[in-house]
Amino acid sequence: MSTINPFVFPGLRSRVIFGHGTIVETGVEIARLGRRKALVLSTPNQKADAEALSERLGALSAGIFAGAVMHTPVEVTETALAAFKSSGADCVVSLGGGSTIGLGKAIATRSGADQVVIPTTYAGSEMTDILGETAGGEKTTRRDPSILPETVIYDVDLTLTLPPALTITSGLNAMAHAAEALYARDRNPIVTLMSTDALRTLSGALPALAKDAGDREARAGALYGAWLCGAALGGASMALHHKLCHTLGGSFNTPHAETHAILLPHTIGFNSVEIPDLLAPVSDALGGTPGAALFDFAASLGAPTKLRDFGLSESDLDRASEIATKNPYWNPRAFNREDIRALLQDAWEGRRPPQ
Ligand code: NAD
Repeated sequence: MSTINPFVFPGLRSRVIFGHGTIVETGVEIARLGRRKALVLSTPNQKADAEALSERLGALSAGIFAGAVMHTPVEVTETALAAFKSSGADCVVSLGGGSTIGLGKAIATRSGADQVVIPTTYAGSEMTDILGETAGGEKTTRRDPSILPETVIYDVDLTLTLPPALTITSGLNAMAHAAEALYARDRNPIVTLMSTDALRTLSGALPALAKDAGDREARAGALYGAWLCGAALGGASMALHHKLCHTLGGSFNTPHAETHAILLPHTIGFNSVEIPDLLAPVSDALGGTPGAALFDFAASLGAPTKLRDFGLSESDLDRASEIATKNPYWNPRAFNREDIRALLQDAWEGRRPPQ
């Protein structure tokens, strides 16, 4: 029998609705929260969808703000907050991926607005009380109960338009949450169960979606897996992998999902040396040692494998390893600046990790 270590399980706090066509429940959910008018948020890319939802909401809509941007720059939040206040809205509906959800969280924590979130990627932000914001070229992250969305509506149909390349990188982004939750310092048995099932589900759904991005069953599996991954991200602290992704995204503006997809085999391979048992669910889902298995899996799906393809120079890697090790933080394996510099070099060149 395995040892049960002491743990704290803080509970799962958001109301979650999952299915096909569930976007029609948005108005019911706004009313359930006792709110009267929602500002519908999106990126410029998904403006037409935001407009259609706003129209469907009728009197429950206070209009749209379609200016969400990746990494939640504070200037955009200030403009959106002014729009929120002048619209007379008392809640937001965030329709989109992590960028739109981040904007909704930034408005909510500044105004007390409730959030109904309709995620259309696999990034998982909807299930967390974490907000990352960018100001002056650096990204800072904080946790607060006011940041956690009240209601999350997962509508599988909305993910059918997620472009094939982003489908894969966003799915790998989700798997990163599950992988790091397995060894989190504050992990608990429920988070481990969710992470294990998420890795199993996504390891089946993503290859099916790489073949046919319109496969509805695989889309449902991927979104279900992404929910579990988001819940794992919200329920446990992240370590080396997420810290490096935030450094590259926040200070070098690398694209979020792609950065996760490229770094994941390297960070997990690095940590697996210290805690191979805790990472067994990764090996069980993919076969092989964790880092190498993740590298082969990502490559087989056609995901990018080299940081150098995203505008980073080798001198950027020097600066990134300095920023990432400036404030020490917990990781299951100790490291120094040279370790991180070497890891980033491997990821820059797209080398397959040995472990
Ligand atoms: P994104 O939200 O920037 O979306 C990428 C692009 O795809 C956007 O143009 C978007 O409009 C478009 N798109 C999204 N869904 C689509 C769909 N179904 N069909 C067609 N187009 C679609 O990307 P992301 O990877 O979801 O989010 C990244 C951001 O989220 C980063 O800023 C990251 O830091 C943040 N994030 C935060 C947390 C958290 O817990 N705080 C967790 C994960 C991600």
